[in-house]
Amino acid sequence: MARDRFLQSVQRYFDRAAAHTRYRPGLLRQVRTCNAVYRMRFPVREDSGEIRVIEAFRAEHSFHRMPTKGGIRFSRRVSLDETIALATLMTFKCAIAGVPFGGAKGGVLVNSSGLSAGFRERIIRRYTAELIRKNFIGPDVDVPAPDYGTGEQEMGWIADTYKNLRVNEPSPYACVTGKPLSMHGIPGRRQATGLGAYLAIRTCMDVAADMQALGLTPGIAGKRVIIQGLGNVGYHAGVALQNQGRALIVGIIEREGALHAPDGLDVQAVHDYRQLHGTLHGFPGATFVAEGNSVLEYDCDVLVPAALESQITGGNAGRIRARIVAEAANGPVDFEGERILGERGIMVLPDIYTNAGGVTVSYFEWLKNKAGVSFDRMVSRHEQMTKIQIVAAIERLTDQSIPDSIRDRLLRSLNEEDMVIAALDQTMTQAFENIHQCWKSRELPDMRTAAFLLAIEAVAESYQQHGIFP
Ligand code: NAD
Repeated sequence: MARDRFLQSVQRYFDRAAAHTRYRPGLLRQVRTCNAVYRMRFPVREDSGEIRVIEAFRAEHSFHRMPTKGGIRFSRRVSLDETIALATLMTFKCAIAGVPFGGAKGGVLVNSSGLSAGFRERIIRRYTAELIRKNFIGPDVDVPAPDYGTGEQEMGWIADTYKNLRVNEPSPYACVTGKPLSMHGIPGRRQATGLGAYLAIRTCMDVAADMQALGLTPGIAGKRVIIQGLGNVGYHAGVALQNQGRALIVGIIEREGALHAPDGLDVQAVHDYRQLHGTLHGFPGATFVAEGNSVLEYDCDVLVPAALESQITGGNAGRIRARIVAEAANGPVDFEGERILGERGIMVLPDIYTNAGGVTVSYFEWLKNKAGVSFDRMVSRHEQMTKIQIVAAIERLTDQSIPDSIRDRLLRSLNEEDMVIAALDQTMTQAFENIHQCWKSRELPDMRTAAFLLAIEAVAESYQQHGIFP
């Protein structure tokens, strides 16, 4: 099954990169292995009054940094191996993004669509209680976040459950990120993963030499993009690609089928239509393709899988016609799929970089919750005073008044969201430069090997600094 191959695929990516390091085998085994797993089964009352036994997991992949961090997935495909694979990716993603956490992941084996709000709430609150019982959650222990099938509402219920069961915890809201703003979430977290994926693609496509090698002009503007999955990640990536990048979104793939429109789709309009009608079918001005995943193989410049793992495999990689595959989802290209894409000269932007925007902004949220103060409160007044002084000095020196429209723009104070987005941009740009430099200077086959190599070295160094592996 695809999900069993997912863990193997992640481990093969690890082994391929680890072969380029100088670390001893024992240390590399420790970096590779998953440190702890908790497999649980608990009863939850359904709306009908029936009791359903729910199976769920939490995997903490690496304790080289604490807390561990990673999303919670609601899906009927969840398995222990899948949860470990996703936790493994989280460790390396955090290292790539320079976020001081170990990797973790949670999975609850339920169909994410069609659950009533009440049943969802009872499941997530009980899951949280189970995690508390075994010390698998806490601001300095393990900090969940949203993933496939979960969002702000579930994170809010986790925070509330934790706060009420751990009454002596000084910063209980730091036990989970991706919370609603009203529960000490952070502006920008909702769109962070998708926006980060856009920033990754933009940064990558600005490298003229690489684009020339792919037969593309540099820059994202006007490039044809196909997106798989219009959930949190795919929707926000699509909006940013269209509005900020001026890319042409020519295809959108969902569970029930896909839309194709060579002249471009309006992502917001497609999203609103699907929210209203529950399907892409019937969206005006586009062709509906019932066999949705066939659109993965349509001609485009950038393919953005943003749904699930193992979507591009040995079975279809030979037919992919994109020049760049940007892994906004976790593990959408498996090891064999990547080998074939590589042979065909198709560039893959690896997941541990491309979707690192979510954990980056989660880190900011965690810091804010630990500190008990928002970022803008600390700096905005000081920044405002400095700007007023600079504007006054310019006017004095030039003996001219700055027009009101320019003055207003200059004096506008940064809000918390501006600061978060700027820091996200900086993180994604810097991480790309590091990966790209490693790829080229160490003559590695591709960017995934470079990203894994950098991440493995960072984790291994950390173990050595702790004196565990002198
Ligand atoms: P989501 O539940 O919000 O959205 C997933 C979307 O994919 C849904 O709209 C669903 O209908 C669609 N989908 C499911 N199966 C499909 C199929 N076969 N073809 C096309 N579409 C399909 O989930 P999300 O949070 O957007 O996560 C998507 C991916 O991104 C996952 O791999 C997740 O692990 C990864 N990711 C998410 C975050 C985050 O912050 N949410 C962070 C990092 C990585």
